[in-house]
Amino acid sequence: MRIIDKQPTVKNPPERFTGDVWVDMLTTPQEGDQRMVVGLVRFAPGAHTAWHRHARGQTLHVLSGVALVQSRGQDVVRVLPGQTVYCPPGEEHWHGATPDDFMTHLAMSENADDPAGSTVWLDHVSDDEYAGS
Ligand code: MN
Repeated sequence: MRIIDKQPTVKNPPERFTGDVWVDMLTTPQEGDQRMVVGLVRFAPGAHTAWHRHARGQTLHVLSGVALVQSRGQDVVRVLPGQTVYCPPGEEHWHGATPDDFMTHLAMSENADDPAGSTVWLDHVSDDEYAGS
């Protein structure tokens, strides 16, 4: 075994996020046919993803703050630290911080056969959608 080098913290691109979101990639496939990707994602107050979907689904584990998550056509859900959210393959959703607090979650997923197709990014979340109205 070996310790994986710490990768630089990366600021996520505004095309796919609203507000400031920083990601530390904790692990990516190391060899062969491995698929596991785990990121530690830090959202500033009010920051959130655009709508998107994951080819093989995604599991989110909230570490601090309160996460807001929503699947297309469903209500916005508040997720507390210590809780884990599972989003099935292909289900359109977004996730982010509440307006008034930082939020940190682990984002765990598996790469698609073509890793570039693991996440498909869609439209931005509207202010009304973010507000849950
Ligand atoms: Mn997601």
